[in-house]
Amino acid sequence: MSTRVPYLTARLQGFGTTIFAEVTRAAIEHDAVNLGQGFPDFDGLDFVREAAIEALRAGHNQYARSFGVPALNRAIAAHQKRFYDIDCDPDSEVTVYSGATEAIFAALQALCDVGDEVVMFEPYYDSYLASICMAGAAPRVQTLRAVEGEDGPTFRFDADALERVVSGKTRAILLNTPHNPSGRVFSREELAQIAAIARKNDLIVISDEVYEHLVYEGQHVPIATLPGMRERTVTISSAGKTFSLTGWKVGWTVAPPPLTRALRSAHQFITFATATPLQHAIAVALEQADERYYDELVAAYRARRDKLCAGLSEVGFAPARPEGTYFVCADIRPLGFESDVALCRVLPERAGVAAIPTSAFCRNKAEGEHLVRFAFCKSEALLDEGIRRLRDNIETLRA
Ligand code: PMP
Ligand code: GLN
Repeated sequence: MSTRVPYLTARLQGFGTTIFAEVTRAAIEHDAVNLGQGFPDFDGLDFVREAAIEALRAGHNQYARSFGVPALNRAIAAHQKRFYDIDCDPDSEVTVYSGATEAIFAALQALCDVGDEVVMFEPYYDSYLASICMAGAAPRVQTLRAVEGEDGPTFRFDADALERVVSGKTRAILLNTPHNPSGRVFSREELAQIAAIARKNDLIVISDEVYEHLVYEGQHVPIATLPGMRERTVTISSAGKTFSLTGWKVGWTVAPPPLTRALRSAHQFITFATATPLQHAIAVALEQADERYYDELVAAYRARRDKLCAGLSEVGFAPARPEGTYFVCADIRPLGFESDVALCRVLPERAGVAAIPTSAFCRNKAEGEHLVRFAFCKSEALLDEGIRRLRDNIETLRA
């Protein structure tokens, strides 16, 4: 990390290879159960994949409209109405991107001037920091810390401390709920605190809600639905998690027309447009996924969550049961480990399991080094095997 990469610009020095690529490489090398990178080991729905094949055969193979094929923009607007009672115009408020990753990048490019500050919660999804830096903006972080509650620890922020991080240079708050990696689903009260800070300081909120449908406790509240927030919020989501199609990279933003016009100025020069047949197929997925689909998705993930949390506890970790997402952060200190990086480095080879060191998502490394993130977007059989391997090999990890 500290060695200078030749040719690379100063703004990208120090980022190294993403932790996801590094951990997946180690998992493949050691034939480990990959509980690191968050991708399902099962496939998306047949009818969605068929819709993509259909779209290819129907000749939907040239550039799409830059801001999305009309059917998908309409389906996204209908989704916002159906789940959140948000009225948005498909043509002037919805934009399609090559994944939420591009949407985040485009939003920061479009909305931040060089020197502007962007506030985000730590631990954060790794592309946030790089995207802020590539936009020439400056990151400011507020740490989420585990607080003991009736149902075990949940990750919380201190609203006063958050307000102190905001300065005259702050342009935006980059929010993520449900939150990767902590699994926290921010409550309406917490979102109201963030919203109050945004309104008071005239900030834009860029709200990454890619796990909106993976909620097991509480309810997902889009911050755009809070008073005075619709006009200052860019809501981001993606088909990857909801339809178990992470490789398709179809994401979107919903934002009022003035913000959308700015976002599209960036998007048109980043990718211009997203894979046309896949957009048609995601339009079909959004239109046809019924109540039962979403209920079964949540039920299946809840069962996987409970299995992984129980298994990790049995091995001796202290997992914080997530309210949402498909990740669980486990405290490694009860087993006598001190460094998430050191543990994750030996895990694939010695235990045949791969996981992510949470400090990779922190500017203040000390805030994450006692936590390891395990993904449960995996078949129950694979989770069982991962847990068995951890249990059988835990002593070798101490060596
Ligand atoms: N945001 C968060 C919080 C994520 O965990 C991910 C991981 N997929 C993304 C954004 C990126 O989504 P996409 O694959 O659609 O680019
Ligand atoms: N979102 C996924 C995770 O957090 C990984 C995405 C990626 O590999 N870039 O594991």
